[in-house]
Amino acid sequence: MTVGWHESNLSRTELVGCMASAFSHVVVAGSLGVALRLNKASWRFWVLGAACSILPDLDVIGHGMGVPYAHPLGHRGLTHSLAFAALVSLVVVRTCFRGVQEKAYRPRLFLYFFLATASHGILDAMTNGGLGVAFFAPLDNTRYFLPFRPIEVSPISIQGFMTARGMEILASEVIWVWLPASLIALGFALKRRFLLKRPHISDL
Ligand SMILES: [Zn+2]
Repeated sequence: MTVGWHESNLSRTELVGCMASAFSHVVVAGSLGVALRLNKASWRFWVLGAACSILPDLDVIGHGMGVPYAHPLGHRGLTHSLAFAALVSLVVVRTCFRGVQEKAYRPRLFLYFFLATASHGILDAMTNGGLGVAFFAPLDNTRYFLPFRPIEVSPISIQGFMTARGMEILASEVIWVWLPASLIALGFALKRRFLLKRPHISDL
């Protein structure tokens, strides 16, 4: 789907209904951490992972200042791109994981923070409202949705969830995001536990 940025400028009321909820982004970030075998990392790792997963929605600030939704800097634009995810990951790893003992984990940490940030756009591209996601910005501002869009668009405020509609949306995210993400993480954890278990010397 291609939309010129000047062609669409949704109001704030419309915008708040155009995202997967922060809860789901954080659940996916947590599941990715477990899948990548980083589950014994410190609290700092988990807080940063959760922050990266919701960071792309900072673009709502620009929207409040009048940036049109479909503008390259509009909602689901540059901050939802793969390039932004790579940049955020690089900055996080270079500034927050500088210890000598962390050096060996940096490639995996970079992958994790990249995926945690990029997963935001992927979830948004699976919602049934708003415009698509500019995955390839700043090179290309084309907005994309995934072919499979089962996630109901979500309100941005906590109050928005305190309604029957909010509960309905949360239930749809539990089914389409929380459960699959948790099952995938569990699958990786079990695989490590049972299939990749290294024998002790005494077992040989
Ligand atoms: Zn978003």
